[in-house]
Amino acid sequence: MLRRTRTPHAFGVATAAAVVLALAAPPALALPADAAPDPVPALVAGQDTAAPQLVTGLSEPAAGAPADAARAHLAAHPDRYRVDPGELVEAGSERDADGRRTVRFEQRHGGIPVFGAQYLVHLTGEGAAQRVESVGGKYFTGLSAPTSATVPDAALRELALGAVQDARARAGATAEDRGAVVLPGGAGRLARHFTVRTTDPAGGDRAAREVYVDAVAGVVALAYDARTPSPAGDAAPSPGGDPQPATGTAPDVHGNSVKVNAVRLPDGGYRLTDLTRHSVITTYDAAGRDADDFVGALPADAVPAASPGPDFPAATGTSGATDAHLGAGAVYDFYRDRLGRDGLDGKGGPIVSVVNVTSGGKPYANAYWDGTKMVYGSGGGAYFPFSAALDITGHEMTHGVVAHTANLTYLGQSGAMDEALADYFGNAIQVTARGLSMNDPKAALLGEDKCRTGTPQACADRHLDDHRTTVADYLGATGALDNGGVHLNSPVFAGALWDIRRTLDPLTADRVVYRALADYLTPLDDFVDGRDAVLAAGRSLGLSRAQLRTVAAAFDAHGIKAGWQHRIGTDSRTLLPDVSGSMSLPAAADGHWVAMGPISGRTDRNALYTGPTTGRTAPVRLSPDDGRYHSYAATDGAGAVWIAVGTDARGWGQEVLTAPLTGAGPVRSLFHSATQQPSGVQVSGRDVAFLVRDAGRTGVRLSHDGAPAVEIPLPEGHGASDLTLRDGLLGWTESWHEGEQQVTAPTVYSIAAGRVTAQYTAHAGAGARPSEAYGTRLAGGRLLWVDIPREDAGAHGSIRSGALDGSGTSEVLSGDAPNAPTRGSLITASDQAVTYRAVPHSLLGPAPAGGWTNAALPKLWQVPLAGGAPQRVSCDRGDQDQPAADQGTRVVWLDATGGGPDLVVRDRPAVTC
Ligand SMILES: [Zn+2]
Repeated sequence: MLRRTRTPHAFGVATAAAVVLALAAPPALALPADAAPDPVPALVAGQDTAAPQLVTGLSEPAAGAPADAARAHLAAHPDRYRVDPGELVEAGSERDADGRRTVRFEQRHGGIPVFGAQYLVHLTGEGAAQRVESVGGKYFTGLSAPTSATVPDAALRELALGAVQDARARAGATAEDRGAVVLPGGAGRLARHFTVRTTDPAGGDRAAREVYVDAVAGVVALAYDARTPSPAGDAAPSPGGDPQPATGTAPDVHGNSVKVNAVRLPDGGYRLTDLTRHSVITTYDAAGRDADDFVGALPADAVPAASPGPDFPAATGTSGATDAHLGAGAVYDFYRDRLGRDGLDGKGGPIVSVVNVTSGGKPYANAYWDGTKMVYGSGGGAYFPFSAALDITGHEMTHGVVAHTANLTYLGQSGAMDEALADYFGNAIQVTARGLSMNDPKAALLGEDKCRTGTPQACADRHLDDHRTTVADYLGATGALDNGGVHLNSPVFAGALWDIRRTLDPLTADRVVYRALADYLTPLDDFVDGRDAVLAAGRSLGLSRAQLRTVAAAFDAHGIKAGWQHRIGTDSRTLLPDVSGSMSLPAAADGHWVAMGPISGRTDRNALYTGPTTGRTAPVRLSPDDGRYHSYAATDGAGAVWIAVGTDARGWGQEVLTAPLTGAGPVRSLFHSATQQPSGVQVSGRDVAFLVRDAGRTGVRLSHDGAPAVEIPLPEGHGASDLTLRDGLLGWTESWHEGEQQVTAPTVYSIAAGRVTAQYTAHAGAGARPSEAYGTRLAGGRLLWVDIPREDAGAHGSIRSGALDGSGTSEVLSGDAPNAPTRGSLITASDQAVTYRAVPHSLLGPAPAGGWTNAALPKLWQVPLAGGAPQRVSCDRGDQDQPAADQGTRVVWLDATGGGPDLVVRDRPAVTC
């Protein structure tokens, strides 16, 4: 995909991406003080594993066929690599033009593939002179996950489809079962991988999401947008008849007549199939058909762009077919002639392009590699067909090369490297084919030739010379935006690669970067792994020490070096690093926090922990080690209550558990069900409350002193959300229908009196500005909520408070205040202050004017309960999510500034940033 697409609202699963995969930069081993620093690290320790990430500078004999020699080498050094050769499956060998071999192994755990885990051995020399030169990759040593599922197949599929929240999209959704996989991290998690595909019911856009469902706990453990929206199908062309190689002429997109390689059919007709290269290159004209028709296998009636004679008609040019056809050939030639690669798959497989597709009846302004073929939008309006830009063709086809080599995971930093490599080669191919100098102002622009109007600079999708660095520019986005910034952060890495191309010579740079991609990178690598991969590739190609220093300097200049996250300025304290963004919703009270997360890579990543909000003592584990997910917690500072999801002796179910924060007390069960869904747990002293959803109805349950929970009846047809519990009082947002209109009402319920003492109905439509209420909280002896206009997605809401006896309301913050809450702004409160998350731009909608910047990401604001101007809680520049108020003005939250997200805390607002 060339550009960030609008993430469909249909998918509601927050990305657990970072959870399993946020592998922090590995520390490089210290060098002896007297050694001149070698730009290529000799050994890089692994993160979350005892197996090293990279070992270079070897020259150890290794006899036999490459795969056997590589396996024997790993087996001969168990203390060095900590790899079990019995758990390695050969996933292919690359043989370079200079005779060097790379053996790529995939890790298995009890025979099941481990997500993204690959270990590579590099060999030089022949026969008796064959030697191991370097070894590296990701092999996870701590895995002990079960290897058989306890959740039935049908239930796993339902859970995957359940990741689609929009009912209309879910109706047409499909879940392709991709098999069992073990997710790494700690002991690992057995999961089933589904590719869930939907069509946006509003816009018609197709979307695909990779969903990993924990096959023991029955929880969506990881979900992110797929790189390729279509299932891989057989895209082999069927030229028909007995085609003869021929040449013809065709207009290009600008109307210039150019020579094209084609075939002549027995009936005298011509088609755009190029037989002059080992890969057969065929170009189809979709003639405005919907991109959906080209999902997977080509439709039976699709034929390549055709002509009755050797001179192709004008439509071949205006559709973009000529440019796609020539571009595919240019990309093939670049990879073959310059880098010794035979096509996208390295085996001369067919190269198929489809041009002139539309989407949902509208022109489609994007392009993508769908797993087997290129698909180009028709452009329209300000755009030419997207095949008009050779760098776009090179970008998309390079995704095909990545898929057949490093297969980088399309998420966070690994996904940003996928995009960066596609940008690098897209531009390198265009610059080479057009004979441009690296100093040409257009050289570093990506996609500048697709626009009918505007300057190249304004038209380009990305600029590889925009000097972005990790420390200054890394966009601290969670997985909710652009898969964690795969397009938004790619220019940082691409910029370093482009600098290398400018400062070394272009051919050497292309060979080094390609070797890093084909021979060193593995799916879960981050930016620093990428730096090490490029340097190791450079050394293997015989670059001089000075050249390697030039390469290292380019990465330095873009801030890509170990520990770069720590050089980003922040004003918060980290309580727990690398916390899940999807299930770890922190809670805080009375100087203590509670959250799900890892403490280190060697512990279970789905356990519940607690610690003081001062961060002065180490976190303590609260939840039992039973293989379930323990999350959605609440605390009153003395005890915690939470929900455990998964399978135990009773079978699969969801359970409400409570325990004292000391970690020493008993864990008590208050509720367990396989069918009813608990949520919204709350605790205050000896009272625990939660919501239970059963057959579409949500009710309130209350447990006193550990007794079984009893239901608090709501009027017929009424539901509750936003449960809050404080000192014998319950609060919630009650909702019901009056005719067509939904009414929402912040409500107070006295446990002692057994009745509702206050209910404040949001304006249901009678007033000038119909509004609704959400986010009900009990704090400071008042009931708080957000009152927000209905049916205006961009509206700001006011924060109101009401007396507990129903005697009246007042305004804490006007909806007209700058940075007032918007729909979905999370709200939390102490007895002194209300903290909320302002979302200036929907992460699911179009980019803000000027593009996504850290400043445009959601931030926390705080306002005193007594009223006043909102103040920024923290000047941390990335996304600030899931705030939980502690005492006074202290707040904990999940902060994505350094990629994380991390659980962090501040004691008071930063006031000005
Ligand atoms: Zn892309």
